[in-house]
Amino acid sequence: MLPESTDVLVVGAGPTGLAVAVALAGHGMTATVVDRLAEPPVTSRAAVVHAGTLEVLDRIGVAAPLAARGLHSTRFTVRDRDRVLAAVPFDRLPSRYPYALLISQAETEVVLTDRLTALGGRVRRPYELTGLDLDDGGATARFADGGTVRARWVVGADGMHSRVRELAGIGFGGPADPGESFLLADVRVDSTLPRDQVTLFLSRQGPLIWAPLPDGTVRLVATVTDAPREPQARHFQALLDERGPVRRPDRVLDVAWASRFRIHHRIADTYRSGPVLLAGDAAHVHSPAGGQGMNLGLRDAVALGDALAAGPEALDAYAAERRPRAEEVLGFAAGLTRLAAAPPAVRPLRNLLLRVVSALPPARQRLAVRLAGFEPGRG
Ligand SMILES: Cc1cc2nc3c(=O)[nH]c(=O)nc-3n(C[C@H](O)[C@H](O)[C@H](O)COP(=O)(O)OP(=O)(O)OC[C@H]3O[C@@H](n4cnc5c(N)ncnc54)[C@H](O)[C@@H]3O)c2cc1C
Repeated sequence: MLPESTDVLVVGAGPTGLAVAVALAGHGMTATVVDRLAEPPVTSRAAVVHAGTLEVLDRIGVAAPLAARGLHSTRFTVRDRDRVLAAVPFDRLPSRYPYALLISQAETEVVLTDRLTALGGRVRRPYELTGLDLDDGGATARFADGGTVRARWVVGADGMHSRVRELAGIGFGGPADPGESFLLADVRVDSTLPRDQVTLFLSRQGPLIWAPLPDGTVRLVATVTDAPREPQARHFQALLDERGPVRRPDRVLDVAWASRFRIHHRIADTYRSGPVLLAGDAAHVHSPAGGQGMNLGLRDAVALGDALAAGPEALDAYAAERRPRAEEVLGFAAGLTRLAAAPPAVRPLRNLLLRVVSALPPARQRLAVRLAGFEPGRG
């Protein structure tokens, strides 16, 4: 049963919505969290939590249990086939978490849910938001089962196709094309690549990310022109043959989970419209190059929880400060994609530049800090 009224209604119990609710609970505020799904998803999806995000999650008591479950990767390596172009170390990050944490999104959501439960909160399922009547004092939310909830504030943490964003009339600009196409899988693979680091292969056909996961599988993510509806082991073998190591080629043994998705680079026109606030994929989407999407959403979430606890002026500051963070991350992800897709004539120069730049310790450190998601004001 939904309550008749609530101070904060959080729509969506993905990583963003859960983290908003945990942050609010830490301030002694109980949010009503709803999700249209009867059960949380069990699939892998976003597989990395960066140090900058762990620092923020530490404040809501989630970093330590997450870190205990994941694999600690201390290095990010950029390669062109066998040749290492850049090696970015995470172990010198100005952080208690000097690594990239590799962990499936389902696990991240379990840890956030456990923390919410420990603080006395819970997610109400399945409740699908279908309508929103906004007025000066808040909003009346309508649900598919006919129920309504009166809320002072409504948080749209309902993902890329956000209903909250749409009902609040907030634009989500961008081209009308179907977006970049990605193929991804967690595979068991026979490989000589180091299992303590994430590797990004830059290839003319597009980037291929190779990231070890705690269960012994390897996450592969690649841009492709046409992703097959049901990706198989042979598709990932072909990607590794086309973009991966040559001297000692990887061999895919089997596929634990595979998917495909299309994504645009988009940012909501505003993060606040009256009583409606946006966070996570509802506010921004971009390519998974660099593994930044869920991280940015988690950092939005904690900032929003703090702002909701602090009062209306802090909410305007939230909206004004978080949108530029998304612009930066989108620019960074787009830059990585362009770097990978450099035309053949430019590639030798690109490779040389990357090797020279990454040989300079300050440049290496800057890249590590950037990848790790530290925001201005930090390291
Ligand atoms: C197949 C796949 C693979 C991905 N791989 C990667 C990756 O490799 N790296 C990476 O960085 N990111 C990846 N992502 C993106 C990543 O999963 C998202 O960035 C992350 O989930 C965003 O979290 P969120 O909480 O903002 O939104 P979501 O996780 O989308 O959560 C939104 C929640 O809102 C609920 N909801 C939606 N509409 C309503 C409604 N009307 N009423 C009530 N509830 C509603 C949904 O059920 C959902 O639980 C992937 C996504 C997918 C789908």
